[in-house]
Amino acid sequence: MDGTSPNAAFEREREVATAAVRDAAILCRAVQRGLETAAMDKEDRSPVTIADFGSQALICRTLAEAFPGDRIVAEEDAAMLRRAGAEESASRVLKFVQGIRPEADGESVLSWIDLGRDEGGAGRFWTLDPIDGTKGFLRGGQYAVALALIVDGRIEVAAMACPNLPVRAGDEAVGAVFTAVRGEGAEVRPLDAAGPATPIRVGAGTDPRDARICESVESGHSAQDQSALVAERLGVAAAPVRLDSQAKYAVVARGEADIYLRLPTRKDYREKIWDHAAGALILAEAGGVVTDVTGRPLDFTKGRELSENRGVVATNGTLHDRVIAALAEAYGSA
Ligand code: AMP
Ligand code: MG
Repeated sequence: MDGTSPNAAFEREREVATAAVRDAAILCRAVQRGLETAAMDKEDRSPVTIADFGSQALICRTLAEAFPGDRIVAEEDAAMLRRAGAEESASRVLKFVQGIRPEADGESVLSWIDLGRDEGGAGRFWTLDPIDGTKGFLRGGQYAVALALIVDGRIEVAAMACPNLPVRAGDEAVGAVFTAVRGEGAEVRPLDAAGPATPIRVGAGTDPRDARICESVESGHSAQDQSALVAERLGVAAAPVRLDSQAKYAVVARGEADIYLRLPTRKDYREKIWDHAAGALILAEAGGVVTDVTGRPLDFTKGRELSENRGVVATNGTLHDRVIAALAEAYGSA
């Protein structure tokens, strides 16, 4: 070893991505504080909208400055904010973005958001979910700002901020940033302080009866009745842990859970690349395995969607084949 890590080429990407998701998470928290004081109706989606757009604007701007010419595939675009009648929303987004980027003005914020309109596919691009788990964001539960760099279908770098997840399971204080570079392992650091990064590793469990399963809170996003059947076949004793967003990948990556099931609820739904890229690399680099429900690797070269895959199964690795086999049996007999 000459002291240079094998993937030193991506160190700068990791640094920039980490700073970007951290800034965006701070913006999300600021919007959320306003949400609490305004005692807004929980069904009112406008705070999500403001935080989604603000987060995307900040991150796209940071990426464009650091890596001019890099493409970005992000969930949102500014069309809604450009419409007549959206002036108030647009000015609220601007106000929150200016909290971190004082130089922003109305037009620049919209153009920063629209940097995320790439279609992905081959080559090098970033993919971004500015707020993954919007329902969790509204509930005060889990949500994530998830960013990943994909090069020719391989996820090379991931940074994911989880403002409501503690750095260590069980800690009272919340706010964690998970990062990974391919071949370099995965780590977690505090969201707020410049604290040290701690490597994370999946659990070593090999007996499915002791496994903990996590899944979506939303039964519309993952077939909870099917996952109960799979759990029964595996002999899993514990009830599933339900949480929103890609925080599910993080809890498996650090051994708090062993299996993340995302089972299709509709034949025609295709998973979005920004819902999985960051979490999948973090888990893989922590020693886990990620495939779709049939055991196929996720294919990130098909554009904005994982069109060749169905659902997602993510595990600590040692349990993977058994989970895929149990799924085949459960679906086969359904
Ligand atoms: P979660 O927080 O795990 O429930 O996932 C939230 C994500 O689910 C959102 O970002 C959506 O992109 C995605 N989503 C929306 N509809 C579906 C669906 N029918 N099946 C799976 N995922 C979905
Ligand atoms: Mg999402």
